[in-house]
Amino acid sequence: MSCLFCRIIAGELPATIVYRADDVVAFRDVNPQAPTHILIIPTRHIASVADTQDSDAELLGRLITVAKQVAQTEKLSGYRLVVNTGTQAGQSVFHLHVHLLGGRAMRWPPG
Ligand code: 5GP
Ligand code: ZN
Repeated sequence: MSCLFCRIIAGELPATIVYRADDVVAFRDVNPQAPTHILIIPTRHIASVADTQDSDAELLGRLITVAKQVAQTEKLSGYRLVVNTGTQAGQSVFHLHVHLLGGRAMRWPPG
């Protein structure tokens, strides 16, 4: 298995997991860009948003509702959800993930 995040899900690579269900896992980013930086991912390997199907709509919704749940657990008063899609947008790991960033003021537009 070559996918980094699939290996984290399988327990082959260490990660600080903050949420785990059959369909979705959340863990802390190893290189945090904010005081709270958590990645929410589907347990099924999907490379990016660009690789999703209409039938993935429920799973995509779950990623957002789990992000909200984790944000509440982390006691974030405001937060940003980011889904980099494709190399040009800054995606570096090709297993779909939602970044949950919080704990500091955010600027707009993002770089
Ligand atoms: P992307 O650039 O694809 O949107 O985000 C990938 C994220 O995964 C980056 O924020 C990066 O710090 C994080 N990351 C990369 N490798 C690992 C790892 O082995 N463990 C954890 N916890 N995060 C990782
Ligand atoms: Zn994967």
